[in-house]
Amino acid sequence: MPRYGIAIDTTKCIGCHACQVACQNHNQLDYNQRFNWILERDRGKYPSFDKEFVPVQCNHCEDAPCERVCPTAAIYTTAEGIVHIRSERCVGCKYCVEACPYKVRIVDHHKGIVTKCWLCIDMVRKGGEPACVTTCPNQVRIFGDLDDPNSKISRFIAEHRAQPLRPDLNTKPKIYYKRS
Ligand code: SF4
Ligand code: SF4
Repeated sequence: MPRYGIAIDTTKCIGCHACQVACQNHNQLDYNQRFNWILERDRGKYPSFDKEFVPVQCNHCEDAPCERVCPTAAIYTTAEGIVHIRSERCVGCKYCVEACPYKVRIVDHHKGIVTKCWLCIDMVRKGGEPACVTTCPNQVRIFGDLDDPNSKISRFIAEHRAQPLRPDLNTKPKIYYKRS
């Protein structure tokens, strides 16, 4: 069984938000709800100054704080390593929203339950890739099997020494970043 993750090359991100819109569309989210964000960071000093765009979403942590705090065991990790929610068990207590150090969980406006990125498991299980990956005009995200040393994602991580956003939190994220 593969163990899926995403590698993100921030040096190629132009901040167009196409991934965000594709994700909203695929997951039928309201215009003001999202599963991924594009953070903007100032880089350099005047006059040599620009912006870095950093796409952020659920990190599908191996040691997920959200999973540990859920009182109804609504959160679980699939065989492919995707942190997922049994929506029928969610009671909307938001403990997981507080526990997530990456602050990527949101409350579904309509259902009153918590939701987040699920790596588009519906498309992945049919042999496809997540909407944010296929939509990006600059191929910023690479999706694939982290356990296959010959996969494109594994080779990218090794070549660029890509790192999770906050390795110091020890949640063992499956989203890796190449930063400039
Ligand atoms: S990033 Fe947050 S929501 Fe995603 S698995 Fe980790 S703790 Fe849970
Ligand atoms: S993997 Fe799917 S659900 Fe997650 S951010 Fe990308 S498009 Fe949204």
